[in-house]
Amino acid sequence: MNIVFLGPPGAGKGTQAQRLAAKLGIPQVSTGAILRRAVDEGTPMGRRAKSLMDAGQLVPDEILTELIRDALARPDARDGVVFDGYPRNEAQAAVLDRLLSNIDRRVDAVVLVDAPEEVIVARLAGRRSCPRCGAVFHLEAAPPERPGKCDMCGANLIQRDDDGPETIRDRMKVYREWTAGLEERYGRAGLLLKVDGSGGTPDEVFDLVCDAVEGRRR
Ligand code: AMP
Repeated sequence: MNIVFLGPPGAGKGTQAQRLAAKLGIPQVSTGAILRRAVDEGTPMGRRAKSLMDAGQLVPDEILTELIRDALARPDARDGVVFDGYPRNEAQAAVLDRLLSNIDRRVDAVVLVDAPEEVIVARLAGRRSCPRCGAVFHLEAAPPERPGKCDMCGANLIQRDDDGPETIRDRMKVYREWTAGLEERYGRAGLLLKVDGSGGTPDEVFDLVCDAVEGRRR
């Protein structure tokens, strides 16, 4: 299955995408994580993306097209991909449709993880992530076993540069302006599965995600 995760920043889409990919045994392609790695490594792509990411703005579409093309060419992507953070506008959605149809595939389901703005701001302020393996924690809701250390790989956890209150507001604005319209696009296509990301623990939300995706597979 090729599954897209949509949702405002901080609603929990990355966490849920990671879990679903592990459960289905297919890769999670997180464009934000790939871009952050490129920034850290100082690659030409990272240097182009950095200031836009720091400002909470979208990185140019052609950079993302390259990333997605590479991701789909990976051998482990043969049986499907969980897309986390892509597409983020209409043009990217059209590119994704085209790249998938070139290999006789299509978007099979779109999971929208949504949450109200006040929940999002509180979540992002406490979010800590692993720069090495991408695992995500929260100081209150999902603390790591050893403070400041990743449970998966032991690396030191960090707060993302774009998780400050000002940038959070800019990222929400960008979501509303560019990405929220995709909810309608995928809704019209009968692909949209809505999950409330604010109600319960990450485990409870994951149950909702699994139920929704299972319903579509049947
Ligand atoms: P995320 O981790 O998904 O919140 O992404 C972090 C940042 O990476 C975003 O605020 C954008 O600057 C950039 N980014 C990630 N995915 C995309 C995309 N599909 N299109 C444009 N920019 C992106």
